[in-house]
Amino acid sequence: MSSQSPPANLLQLAAELAEAKPMRRGSLSKRMVKCSKPGCPCREDPDARHGPYFSLTRAVQGKTQSRYLTPEQAVLARQQIEAGHEFRAGLEKLWEGCEAWADSQLGGFPNGLYRGGRKRGLQASLQDQIVQEFETLVGRQSTPTTLLAEVNFLS
Ligand SMILES: [Zn+2]
Repeated sequence: MSSQSPPANLLQLAAELAEAKPMRRGSLSKRMVKCSKPGCPCREDPDARHGPYFSLTRAVQGKTQSRYLTPEQAVLARQQIEAGHEFRAGLEKLWEGCEAWADSQLGGFPNGLYRGGRKRGLQASLQDQIVQEFETLVGRQSTPTTLLAEVNFLS
């Protein structure tokens, strides 16, 4: 089962993802705004607000970046964002497929499960038991770090 040639579906997916295309991260927003001009009806009437104004928003290194777009640019930007979503979803599928392939290369797991396997559970309970014995010995104080280190070494 540890074949070296990639499964056909993964090759196909990887080839699709490798195609460069205009795409982007972030989101597009459309806003109607109120101005500060005295007497402008936009203050009271929601329908008299100005716009729509389109902007692209994206978080870059923890900061939000915004850029205004014309309505024509907004149409294109929406498609670019959609292409970005598809790319991300495809990448996730490729990850999952490659991990399944990697699993089959390993040829199964000794205890069946990744987590909560029987062996690990036994080790954990053994460790708890040893810590408990130490604590009884030391008089229910915190177990000295050196002893804990030894206990951890067992697992
Ligand atoms: Zn106004």
